[in-house]
Amino acid sequence: MADVIAVRALVKKYGPLTAVDGINFNIAEGCCFGLLGPNGAGKTTTIEMLEGIIKPTSGHISLFGQTATKALYRRVGIQFQHTALPDYLSVAEILRLFASFYEQPTAIADLIALCSLGEFIGQDARKLSGGQRQRMLLALALINDPDLLFLDEPTTGLDPQARRNFWDLIGSIKAQGRTIVLTTHYMDEAQILCDEIAILDQGEIVARGAPTDLLAEHFRGVLVQIPSENLAGKRLDMAFVARPDWIEIRTEQVDSTLQQLMAQGIPLAGMQVKSANLDDLFLKLTGHALRG
Ligand code: ATP
Repeated sequence: MADVIAVRALVKKYGPLTAVDGINFNIAEGCCFGLLGPNGAGKTTTIEMLEGIIKPTSGHISLFGQTATKALYRRVGIQFQHTALPDYLSVAEILRLFASFYEQPTAIADLIALCSLGEFIGQDARKLSGGQRQRMLLALALINDPDLLFLDEPTTGLDPQARRNFWDLIGSIKAQGRTIVLTTHYMDEAQILCDEIAILDQGEIVARGAPTDLLAEHFRGVLVQIPSENLAGKRLDMAFVARPDWIEIRTEQVDSTLQQLMAQGIPLAGMQVKSANLDDLFLKLTGHALRG
């Protein structure tokens, strides 16, 4: 599949600070690509260079196979973290206003259906809930029927249900074949939505690939956690690590580990089996946790 974005040796310096330090990646057509990393890692700086909002200090960005030019940005939609909207307008009026900026806007009825705006379409846009506002901003980002869509931390501050609704919506947009570039702090979000991710730390990419491939490459097996009280008065004959409230057994053969535990008379009540996730990967690669 053709690359929609190709980034080579991209650098952004702010005075003495190197916010983005020579990164490289490609994003294939139809891919949902996640840029992940802690606060200050360089995600927004990177995405703003891709969006043409700020100029790189050095390096090269190509869009749709060509050096990025203004004309190419007609094929791009952007959902910003913060968007100033005109006061006193309803959602419908804002959609109509934004549609008037384009020669061939997406049909407003289609956007209302796709982004489930129907129940609050007549409402003053200042009075929307966080989730409703994000759905409206996404509809605005789609108004020029873009082939490439940028979403900058689209679910930050939403409650869990609103986040899940938003994930469904992004799934529908992906199914339309659009390419999506997403920044997020939420690793679960990236694992669910992204075909490929790049993890940024201090302006550098520390890991890049499909989430499942990255996890398989860096972690073997699962962790079985058993409450410590289950071992009271018993002797466990296998390797384990004692934590304050539970013991941990690392294994690549869960079935046989559980059979051995039962054979040794260890109750399994309260047991948890955990696979490594992207938070664990970040910790392993950088030595510090993603969230402070
Ligand atoms: P967050 O998740 O908090 O939004 P981020 O990963 O998006 O963080 P950036 O906003 O890209 O990180 O910032 C990367 C670094 O560049 C930070 O150290 C930040 O303070 C710095 N920086 C960003 N914009 C500017 C600017 N306009 N002038 C000076 N320094 C900046």
